[in-house]
This record gives sequence, C-alpha cells and structure tokens, in this order.
Amino acid sequence: MSGKYRPANDAGLASMEQFDRRPGWMLRGHLQRKGREGEEDTVKKAACPDCGGKLMLFEKRNMPLFDTKCTNCGFMAQIKTPEGRPKTRVNGAGYGVLRKWLDAGNPVPPLIVNSRWETGQQIRLYKDIPESHIKPRKLSPNHRYAGYGVFAYVRLDQLPYTTLYAKSD
Ligand SMILES: [Zn+2]
Repeated sequence: MSGKYRPANDAGLASMEQFDRRPGWMLRGHLQRKGREGEEDTVKKAACPDCGGKLMLFEKRNMPLFDTKCTNCGFMAQIKTPEGRPKTRVNGAGYGVLRKWLDAGNPVPPLIVNSRWETGQQIRLYKDIPESHIKPRKLSPNHRYAGYGVFAYVRLDQLPYTTLYAKSD
C-alpha cells in the first residue's frame, strides 16, 4: 500500500481518528473492523432497555444516525465504542445528517456507549440527550477531511444513564 491517503467511503470514520495517532491508511481497516466488533459485542451483551428484546445491527450505509434496533419493539439507538473507561466526551460522526434530523423536529438519537478497558466493561444508555450536549466543530485545515463538520457528545457525566451491562474490575 502506498502512503497516499485515499478518500474514505464512509465519512463518519473521520471523527473516530481523533483518538489514534497512527496514519489513516493504517487505521481505516482496523477501525472498521474494531467499530463493527464493538457494535456486535454491544448487541450480544445488552438487551433492549425498553422491553428486554434482542437488539440487531443495521448495515452502516442504510441508517447513518442509528446502529441498532430492537427486534421486538422498534427501539433504535446509536452505538459508540470508545476505548477505555467511561468518558465524559465521546466523538460522534458527521454533523450534517444529525443537523437535518434535529431541524426536522426529531430528538437526539439515544446513545449506547460500550466502554471497555483491560479489567472491566460498562455499556451505558444515554436516552435523553439535550441538544446542548452536542458540540459541532469543523475538522482542522491540516486534517485530511479538512472542513468536514463533525460533532461530539459532551458533558456526559451530567446526564442520567442506564447501565445495560457491567463487568467490574
Ligand atoms: Zn425493545
């Protein structure tokens, strides 16, 4: 593989790369596998918070704002799988599609965060996220997706959550 970056076919990946210093061409395949693995781990361990039903994953391309849906009641959520212990800030994805969704009068999609570290794991659901906890920004000029609008979930420590799965230290 050459050192030249090629455009990603999933722009949502741009936001995930903030956490890792390795070059994009090394990360892309790794992150895609890891992101999917994290989502699969989530639906394997967590049941629907509303009815206890089984959660299934969407194919990425079809549903940019949702990763999972309950097979019983239709509950839907976004899944994020940042490395390490639970964080107050979690990177989201492209802001444009979320902005349109919010402008149409919809609430911020429920967020499931699967945090895994060496000795433990917690899967949390943040169901009601006020828009004030969504922080948009544009990627910096020297980023390879310069100017692309992304967002982060911020101050998650101030929001109520439900623990869907926990493995303690
Ligand atoms: Zn359900």
